Amino acid sequence: MAGERQLHACADAATPQGPVRTCIGCRKRATKSELLRVVVGSADDGPAVVPDLRGTTPGRGAYLHRTVACYELAHRRRAFTRALRLDQGLATDAVRALLESLDT
Ligand SMILES: [Zn+2]
Repeated sequence: MAGERQLHACADAATPQGPVRTCIGCRKRATKSELLRVVVGSADDGPAVVPDLRGTTPGRGAYLHRTVACYELAHRRRAFTRALRLDQGLATDAVRALLESLDT
């Protein structure tokens, strides 16, 4: 790996299908409707990264494809922590559980 490129994706980039976001797993760009938004929320045992199914929870969100493969990629490179600007890693089990249920 030759180091990470600083990709400053334009937040206002839009296509006829709607706004485009970058998947934190595979880093491919897709329309928001194809992606799952995740936010910092709370689980039973404290703060955690949770799916934002309606995409309306205020605050910083991150986007990834609705697949376990992209979750695994994001998880392995700690992309949740970085994308959500967390000081420490948080549990992402709720996201994984949802994607496993979708990935049939
Ligand atoms: Zn992806």
